[in-house]
Amino acid sequence: MATSILGAPIAAALENEVTAIVSELAAAGVVPRLVALAAGHDPASEVYLGRQAKAAARLGMSYEIRRAAEPTEAAVLAEIDALNADPSVTGVIVQMPLPAGIRSEVVQARLSPEKDVEGVHPANLGALLESAPTVAPCTAAAVVECLLASNIPLRGADVVVVGRSRIVGRPAALLLVEKDATVTLAHSRSRDLAAVTRRADIVVMAVGRAGLLTPDMLRTGAVVIDVGINEVFTDGKRSIVGDALPAIADVCSAFTPVPGGVGPVTVALLWRNAARLAKRRLAR
Ligand code: NAD
Repeated sequence: MATSILGAPIAAALENEVTAIVSELAAAGVVPRLVALAAGHDPASEVYLGRQAKAAARLGMSYEIRRAAEPTEAAVLAEIDALNADPSVTGVIVQMPLPAGIRSEVVQARLSPEKDVEGVHPANLGALLESAPTVAPCTAAAVVECLLASNIPLRGADVVVVGRSRIVGRPAALLLVEKDATVTLAHSRSRDLAAVTRRADIVVMAVGRAGLLTPDMLRTGAVVIDVGINEVFTDGKRSIVGDALPAIADVCSAFTPVPGGVGPVTVALLWRNAARLAKRRLAR
């Protein structure tokens, strides 16, 4: 019977770390000040904004929602410039998805790396190569946290990461190498994906395609970390599923469920990044 790696307790432990940093900062008279920058009124984003506001209050951080004057790249960049120049702002979260026509990588590169809570500025991504990140991209870091919290050995382990995106698959591979895993980065052009994943002790799915990972693609006892978030409709009913078929539970030893696995850990790491950036600012 496979173990379900639940995100909630891992996230709770990370929140304790955040609270400890925030208390340390409070003792020095500093309250982290976060700004969430929204460019439009995406319904899913509005739900996230509400959740972020509640979490920030719970964790003792100041939180404000700012909206670009209009949903254009120029307006978003102007807002970013203002936030970069405001010394009272310690961190910025750019709400995704951005409206059509606004290039996320241009916006991410404009934000000061010192305020980049999501860890997606080129300088922060580059720090992963230098093995010295202050803030890693939250989802990639969540993959590692899920494995560490579950005491799954990484040193020398064969890990296959499926998906090579700039802010999920690639950084996850780098963070896993840093933990001494032997990492294979597979993607849409990989030949015979099943043969690649079958070799793995740990398979990380970061593609965004429901049912891509099937039980026959796994070695018995493998661990599956499922980053995928896919909306599916069955008999007209909407649900969210990962990249792995539920039947993988018959073959693997442990897996992260979707929802309830990697997601909550990702969110907790956003707050840890926010706290770390505020602390780094104080130290300068
Ligand atoms: P992306 O579309 O940028 O990248 C997908 C990657 O999958 C690409 O590198 C591509 O080469 C690879 N790919 C596509 N088809 C493939 C196939 N048939 N076989 C092997 N590889 C294939 O997506 P992303 O931003 O990296 O996100 C990946 C998934 O993770 C999405 O479902 C996204 O919603 C989810 N996500 C989850 C969280 C979280 O907190 N859990 C956060 C961010 C993204």
